Amino acid sequence: MTADIAIHDAYVLTVDDRNRLYERGTVLVEDGRITEIRTSQDDDAGIAADRVIDGEGKLVMPGLVNAHTHLELTPLLGAFSDLDLLEMMGGMTAIYGHIAEGEYEYLTEAGYELAALNFLAGGVTTSNSMDVRPSAGAETFGEAGLRGFFGVALSDLFWDVPVDEQFARARDFIDEYHDSYDGRIQATICPHDDWSCTRELWERTADLVADYPDLHVHTHLLELEASNTMARSNGATDSLDMLDDVGLLNDQLVAAHFRLADEEDIQRTADAEASVAHCPSI
Ligand SMILES: [Zn+2]
Repeated sequence: MTADIAIHDAYVLTVDDRNRLYERGTVLVEDGRITEIRTSQDDDAGIAADRVIDGEGKLVMPGLVNAHTHLELTPLLGAFSDLDLLEMMGGMTAIYGHIAEGEYEYLTEAGYELAALNFLAGGVTTSNSMDVRPSAGAETFGEAGLRGFFGVALSDLFWDVPVDEQFARARDFIDEYHDSYDGRIQATICPHDDWSCTRELWERTADLVADYPDLHVHTHLLELEASNTMARSNGATDSLDMLDDVGLLNDQLVAAHFRLADEEDIQRTADAEASVAHCPSI
């Protein structure tokens, strides 16, 4: 059988279950799938394939994963880099809620396209993005051949948007885009964070999760000093306790940041088999 793509004499990092590494390896792709990885033979340059790539001096490896991002903010990259965290939050919040409305819609779409191009060029094949209006992201990434997890951010204190409207948007997005583009595009449920979501918001999120039990829950956890304070003022011991209370501290959870986690938080999260996207640079 003739392969669609053959790459020969490349450095091949498989990241398979035996972590095999080839200093001079050949990779064959048929029908969009890798069918063979082996040590290169001297005549591999003449291999029968629609496209033969000389991998000399190149690295072949699985795609990278961007485990936490907000891709609709791509047009604002660099705009806030001289501000401290709270100034940035304040400045971005004002824009965030309105970014894809009316005259700015083109900017959101352009941002998603720029992100897709950057990721394709940089080797990032999967990303996990929490946005206000992720539809354009799902379509752009789906059409670009990338994998993407996208969800609508939900919060009752972060911005002044009726909570009913936010949940309606989240449901519409899930119904339209979950498991689309051959399964490469997946919807997520995104309670925004543990410092701007009240217990009521978490409980409503848990109800939504009950309707869509296969979806991942993507949030910001233990990012700011105020994180545990919000949980305490809502009758929980701390943020993890709040998530546990409403039934969301489990293996469906992807918690971004985790900057302020102590040993006990790490242990509890590990015990619950939840995942952490550690972004300490915030
Ligand atoms: Zn974030």
